[in-house]
Amino acid sequence: MNKIPMTTPLVELDGDEMTRVLWAAIKEQLLEPFVDLRTEYYELGLPKRDETRDQITLDSAEAIRKYGVGVKCATITPNAQRMTEYHLHEMWKSPNGTIRAALDGTVFRTPILVDGISPVVRNWKAPITIARHAYGDVYRGVEFRATAGGRAELVFTDRDGNEARQTIYDFECDGVVTGQYNKDSSIASFARACFQFALDTKQDLWFSTKDTIAKKYDGQFKEIFQTIYDAEYREKFEAAGITYFYTLIDDAVARVIRSPGGFIWACKNYDGDVMSDMVSTAFGSLAMMTSVLVSPDGKYEYEAAHGTVTRHYYRYLEGEQTSTNPMATIFAWTGALAKRGELDGNAALQDFAAKLERACIEIIESGTMTKDLAALWEKGTPNVVTSDGFLSAVRQRLEAALA
Ligand code: NAP
Ligand code: MG
Repeated sequence: MNKIPMTTPLVELDGDEMTRVLWAAIKEQLLEPFVDLRTEYYELGLPKRDETRDQITLDSAEAIRKYGVGVKCATITPNAQRMTEYHLHEMWKSPNGTIRAALDGTVFRTPILVDGISPVVRNWKAPITIARHAYGDVYRGVEFRATAGGRAELVFTDRDGNEARQTIYDFECDGVVTGQYNKDSSIASFARACFQFALDTKQDLWFSTKDTIAKKYDGQFKEIFQTIYDAEYREKFEAAGITYFYTLIDDAVARVIRSPGGFIWACKNYDGDVMSDMVSTAFGSLAMMTSVLVSPDGKYEYEAAHGTVTRHYYRYLEGEQTSTNPMATIFAWTGALAKRGELDGNAALQDFAAKLERACIEIIESGTMTKDLAALWEKGTPNVVTSDGFLSAVRQRLEAALA
């Protein structure tokens, strides 16, 4: 068989532990036999990040900026325990956070649905994608412990030194105070990434805040979204037959539960943190959740939403054949290959990505799956396989589809 050619390389970001093992197996079993895979490889495994003092992470982000599409394996975010385990020079920051900051990007998380594993919410028929604004608000807030008899004030000093002052509260008893901020530039990038992604995936975009209460703060989010929509996206949305819809967060929650799914829900930082866990749990499994980072100028980085699956890795190191689910990591690759194909006008590559996704879904729907899905399976006794068993079943099905 002739391998499918690629014109532009994908930026490949390798990672750690069990997902690193899966990464190599996916390439060997499902990609390299069929595609003349061109990648620019970045080693983001923790030892290399430490050795390069994390320069490799910045370099990989720069490469995504240059080529436009990257695919990333899950990576360890170091904590105290990892410092000892890997003898690290420093507690390096999360690569995802570093790359997100470098690309000024927004993360979109989407579940992979299969027939035979139903969402907890009965009427959800299509995936709901959550877009979380990953900057500011309570995550960059400052906090104070207030004491009885004190006054909390908000003081803003402008560039000329003029002070604006407002009383928050005169405390008659002990209490708590917090100060939060966000930036117009960050909100605008978030808005553009959401509008862009909605157009790319031809789905409606919902956005929710609490602007009836936070009139200036959340009102600014609402205003920026609306202004950018009217000026840059309204016509494109109308041409694509999709809509932009703003509503209050509490109204959105009620509507989301009643909806059939199939749209993007843009959330402020805290709302996105909470809602994405609720939505992903209700759809089934973290192992079936994909994630893509989209920058406002249309650069893409695809990955799985889960981590490096450490518990399985330690068993793998002891020689056990684990039943770790490779779906989200495979879909990171297919997402990236399809986007590369789209940007390069490479229909064969797009077709390959679609067939590989189809093959994965059909294998699960035929009853063959990894252990994590077995408990969720509703159609009798599943055939539970190891990761390798799953990959070879998918490979057979893919070969048939490509023949
Ligand atoms: P995790 O790797 O997502 O795994 C948590 C648990 O979820 C696993 O022990 C496993 O449960 C289940 N699970 C997750 N993915 C699975 C899969 N593909 N197949 C089967 N089961 C799966 O989270 P973690 O253990 O909290 O974090 C491990 C490391 O990953 C940490 O060092 C963290 O820093 C890193 N991390 C990286 C990213 C990223 O790069 N995007 C994201 C999150 C965490 P059972 O053990 O019960 O089978
Ligand atoms: Mg969270």
